Amino acid sequence: MSTEKLFDPAASPLLKDVHNDDAVASLFIDGQWQPAADGETRTIINPADGSEVGIVSEASEKDTIRAIEVARRTFDNGEWRAVPAVERGKILVKVADLIRENKSEFARAEAADTGKRLPEAEADMDDIADSFDYFGTLAGHAAGRVVDAGDPNVRSRIDAEPVGVCGLITPWNYPLLQVAWKVAPALAAGNTFVLKQAELTPHTAMMLMTVLTEAGVPAGVANLITGAGATAGNPLSTHPDVDMVSFTGGLVTGKLVAKQAAETVKRVALELGGKNPNVIFADADFDAAVDNALNGGFVHSGQVCSAGARIIVEESIHEKFVDELVRRTAAIKLGGPLDEAAETGALISAEHRDKVAAYVDRAREQGADIRIGGKIADEADNHGPHGTGNTDLSKGYFYLPTVIDGATREMDCVYDEAFGPVVTVETFRTEDEAVAIANDTEYGLAGAVWTSDAGKAERVTARLRHGTIWINDFHPYLPQAEWGGMKQSGNGRELGPTGLAEYQEQKHVYHNIAPAVTGWFQG
Ligand code: NAD
Repeated sequence: MSTEKLFDPAASPLLKDVHNDDAVASLFIDGQWQPAADGETRTIINPADGSEVGIVSEASEKDTIRAIEVARRTFDNGEWRAVPAVERGKILVKVADLIRENKSEFARAEAADTGKRLPEAEADMDDIADSFDYFGTLAGHAAGRVVDAGDPNVRSRIDAEPVGVCGLITPWNYPLLQVAWKVAPALAAGNTFVLKQAELTPHTAMMLMTVLTEAGVPAGVANLITGAGATAGNPLSTHPDVDMVSFTGGLVTGKLVAKQAAETVKRVALELGGKNPNVIFADADFDAAVDNALNGGFVHSGQVCSAGARIIVEESIHEKFVDELVRRTAAIKLGGPLDEAAETGALISAEHRDKVAAYVDRAREQGADIRIGGKIADEADNHGPHGTGNTDLSKGYFYLPTVIDGATREMDCVYDEAFGPVVTVETFRTEDEAVAIANDTEYGLAGAVWTSDAGKAERVTARLRHGTIWINDFHPYLPQAEWGGMKQSGNGRELGPTGLAEYQEQKHVYHNIAPAVTGWFQG
């Protein structure tokens, strides 16, 4: 077993003012690191082995309100929004450079907080830097547009302006990536923000504050709260000084945030869960489809909002497909961040692992066929096919990769998001039936179609009510292409030009250059 220290927050050059004389001050407000007003703290645990990563401040509502007041004052003094968008863009490009320069430190912190494998965390950092680059470049190209008013004496235009104070709330599965998709466009547009990163995975968001400051973001523009959702997060959707709340997380929390934000008519952007269909026709490239079904279901142990957790396969290849899927699932190696033999990692917490276990138990009770997996990893699994010999699986929160066959639409497992290493398999006979099954979900985030018939691929794609469709692939996304959900997967879009527009107000300016008496009123 590896004894190398993955990440030590107290020694991190990007957190050097957070830890002083054994005290911790992880709230970043008005350009200063500060402790929680009540002095509360939280211990962060590495889910791969249960070890302590570090201690952070646990904010209360009071702290968040203080941060909101700073963000309000900073926005209203107008200095940040007055910085030309091109200059704000250059700062974001510098942020991207600094993330690349400090990639190893960021990746190690992310791997420690999430338990994910280090190479995955490193790949995430590349994507995060690319997102900052993208919005940095876009910033100067989205100033608004000129409108033809139909009158030679009128100059009419749409000015893109910042929305104001943004409350940003993010989840734990891709901690810094989800933060980047909000922070980069919010800053590009000239907003100020208060970010509440998921309480279980705070370190990379903290490090980002150091990098933003170094790149030139002024004090009071970027503020960070570390703490729990129901307490520290709550004011972001209730406080009247917040103009917009952008939330990524679960459906239940998202509905609550939207409901609370309605009271002060905030702009609301929601990126919620998914139950994503992976539709496989008999004429698909078989090996590629099986391989990508594994990627779709088991990358990051299925803790991916766009996980291909619902495999919908044409009946004529069902048996052959599932046999091969099960054979390859049985060989997936589990392990911690530094375990080079591991192919996927731990679940975020014991509580979450137990939720995944309960989801599979329910499928079993309802008559589904658990072809492989279906249990929490224990000591014996260290020496089984999923063990690498380098990680003690019983110390972390591991669940065995699971294939549930014989799933039908009478069962909860085909509708509920497991958010773990679990795929269900359903079958269809016709194109219409495939579409009907794939759309039979309250969610609409992402999905895939596998076929060698391009016409069929396009026909099915056009009928799927999901925000991203992969044809003969699974999981890639591009910073320049919109990401987001239909139906109850959300109401916003991140990335792409729309991802910037979310953080902009469109102001119409109608300028009459030849003022004249209209004669409307005669008195
Ligand atoms: P969650 O809803 O429990 O928490 C998300 C965030 O909301 C956390 O920061 C949490 O502290 C905060 N929060 C909780 N209660 C709050 C409240 N009352 N007020 C304000 N903030 C509050 O979700 P999670 O378990 O962290 O993340 C998993 C979920 O996120 C899954 O459903 C997944 O599909 C979804 N997700 C979606 C996307 C997407 O792009 N659509 C991306 C990643 C994750």
